[in-house]
Amino acid sequence: MAEDIKALDKTYIVNVYSRLDAVLDHGKGALLYDVNGKEYIDLSAGIAVNIFGVCDDVWKIAVEAQLGKLSHISNIFYTEPQVQLARLLCEKTGMKKVFFSNSGAEANECAIKAARKYSHDKYGDGRYTIITLKNSFHGRTMATLTACGQDDLHQDFGPFLDGFAYAEPDDIDSLKALADKGGVCAIMMELVQGEGGVHPLDPAFVSAAAAYAREKDILLIIDEVQTGNGRTGALYAYMNYGIEPDIVTTAKALGGGLPIGATMFASSCEHALTDHTHGSTFGGNPICAAGAISIISRIDDGLMAEVKAKGDYIKGELESCSGVEFVSGMGLMIGAKLKKDLASVVAQCVAGGVLVLTANGLLRLLPPLNIPWDELKKAISIVKDVIETAE
Ligand SMILES: *Cc1c(COP(=O)(O)O)cnc(C)c1O
Repeated sequence: MAEDIKALDKTYIVNVYSRLDAVLDHGKGALLYDVNGKEYIDLSAGIAVNIFGVCDDVWKIAVEAQLGKLSHISNIFYTEPQVQLARLLCEKTGMKKVFFSNSGAEANECAIKAARKYSHDKYGDGRYTIITLKNSFHGRTMATLTACGQDDLHQDFGPFLDGFAYAEPDDIDSLKALADKGGVCAIMMELVQGEGGVHPLDPAFVSAAAAYAREKDILLIIDEVQTGNGRTGALYAYMNYGIEPDIVTTAKALGGGLPIGATMFASSCEHALTDHTHGSTFGGNPICAAGAISIISRIDDGLMAEVKAKGDYIKGELESCSGVEFVSGMGLMIGAKLKKDLASVVAQCVAGGVLVLTANGLLRLLPPLNIPWDELKKAISIVKDVIETAE
């Protein structure tokens, strides 16, 4: 059966994913099973999505209840799950308003549009540039692809959008030099660059950038699509940095496995988007919103302490592994630069029953936040064995 599915995939699916060799069928929590019944411990969480693992009971009850009530209705009507989720997010963050979409890229598109609108309303034409950081990742739509600070992504699809500039991460002079050219409406950054190689930004750089942005009325957009929703040991990573962003975007883990994105606005720009200036057919869909409420309402201090303890454990284990050059990350968002061939380590981990990821030349681990300790320890010992013995 696995071979048939792989053949059909090759025939009918656009070939943009170099898939790993596992045809997954079902699972519970951090344990997944392929079509042959082989078990895997999941250290990938659907790329930072399944923070309570797959088919989590609490989430399932919330989603099923909503599924039996109202599956979808247009955003020209009110629905309760959407407003309850927005209120929960605002109460937990201090942000003032939320726009719901369906993905990280869309959450960032909304932030980009809102920043330009804010600036246009206040300062008129010509102040539209958004500074992002080199090595950043913000999505795959034309605007968010342009926003990515990676030259190798800026091929083949030109012309790209006007009004993006790329500063060096952790270099405040580089950022100020770009901003001082004028015409800048926003700075957008991930606080732990995920796809770019699990790189946490230097707190001194982040506070300097935030202070500079505030001084110049440049909006600070924090892309928490991957770092958000408990992944780094705080509800949102900006809380670890003690800054107050104007706009926070998130998606991935927000819906517990259902597609939902959110763009949250602080009081500085909560009124930037006005009637008919933005929208989404599916955004804030009641089922996705109900799932998200069940996720966000369970991210508490106890879980965050667990995230930190598990993150420290993984870091310690990998640092003591002779095939590892360095370990980076925050909370349960962890990267490891290996002295071994990365592709073969990943393939051997999967073959050995552990699902892992890569990010820009690093091994990347993003386990479900509630992964039981015994499963985590077993998975890490398999990963370590693979790294030690790999070529
Ligand atoms: C995954 C990711 C995105 C894009 O999210 P999609 O849901 O795939 O569109 C944007 N920004 C960051 C930081 C991400 O990790």
